[in-house]
Amino acid sequence: MKQHFRHVVFAVPLASLLAVPPLVLAHDPYESEHEQTHEYLNAEHQAGHEQLEAQHEAAHQYPMTRREHRRLHRALRQEHRAEHQGLQEQHEDYHTSND
Ligand SMILES: [Zn+2]
Ligand SMILES: [Zn+2]
Ligand SMILES: [Zn+2]
Repeated sequence: MKQHFRHVVFAVPLASLLAVPPLVLAHDPYESEHEQTHEYLNAEHQAGHEQLEAQHEAAHQYPMTRREHRRLHRALRQEHRAEHQGLQEQHEDYHTSND
């Protein structure tokens, strides 16, 4: 019960932390190699989210001031954005070399 409460507390700030437009990768669903590439990128994206979530939770084990918390969230958000950008670039590279 205590564990459940903890999780709810973390879920709220994390939702806003990850409020970045999702990757738009759903197109050409018939081409299987392309689909595989998309699945790979989506899996990478998912893994990135899990890593950020773990970092966030780990940081919350220690007491923090409001200001430190804000700074932490900003850093995680930037990391998340960079991750999205990297995946978009990989996706575009794939299309540039395969179209
Ligand atoms: Zn937080
Ligand atoms: Zn694509
Ligand atoms: Zn994301």
